[in-house]
Amino acid sequence: MSFGVTMLRPAANNPATKPELTAKLKAVVAAKSAEVLALLKTAIAEFGSNYEVTFANSMGAEDMVLTDIILRNQLPIEIFSLDTGRLPAETYDLIAEVEKTYDTRLKIFFPRSETIEEYVRSHGINAFYESVDLRKACCHMRKVEPLGRALKGKKVWITGMRAAQAETRADLPVREFDAGNKLEKFNPLSSWSEAEVWAYIRLHKVPYNALHDQFYPSIGCAPCTRAIAVGEDVRAGRWWWEDPNSKECGIHAKK
Ligand code: SF4
Repeated sequence: MSFGVTMLRPAANNPATKPELTAKLKAVVAAKSAEVLALLKTAIAEFGSNYEVTFANSMGAEDMVLTDIILRNQLPIEIFSLDTGRLPAETYDLIAEVEKTYDTRLKIFFPRSETIEEYVRSHGINAFYESVDLRKACCHMRKVEPLGRALKGKKVWITGMRAAQAETRADLPVREFDAGNKLEKFNPLSSWSEAEVWAYIRLHKVPYNALHDQFYPSIGCAPCTRAIAVGEDVRAGRWWWEDPNSKECGIHAKK
């Protein structure tokens, strides 16, 4: 099976990234931002102020909101990202822009090269299109395993997930115990809408991935992410060839 990825991405003007900044929306975003800051401070107070709290930054729009709140308030929270080796060029550009804007250096974790080599030699360079099992194996070696190393020794894992993003996230709590990784997991943006995320980004002039303006609401690896049509589910562009109920990479799997 083969899925061609469009190499030329025309400039587009996705209206979802530019919500009308009404007084009501601004007020909601201000209130929710204050709640997020309070929650992050609670995590630090309960679990440690020496970077035992870590934030997994996938560089998506939601994660840019959290990045801004953490760095703007100089919170002692580590920020890390996973470079799967298959990210779009725009995501690398954003990493560089974030580091420049906030005068910081993100902690990047990479997959183990020997595992990638073995998989590619056995199954092929784009084997993730062939079956759900091969796709999940790819996500495991490029995301789940490096994530385990990133979370090692940490007490709290902050994520930018929202309940409205996917069927698989509908009951997402603000705070839960992650039995698989044996740490607390905070999802501060759980109740946020897409419009609220973008209102925050616009109001605070936060850097964001250029692909969002080209109808990519959810951005992962380049070969497994496509633009969506107006009205489609925001996660429709991720692993679009699979059933919606299988569309998680394993990073947020319940164990
Ligand atoms: S999103 Fe695609 S390329 Fe990235 S790790 Fe998963 S299967 Fe592999």
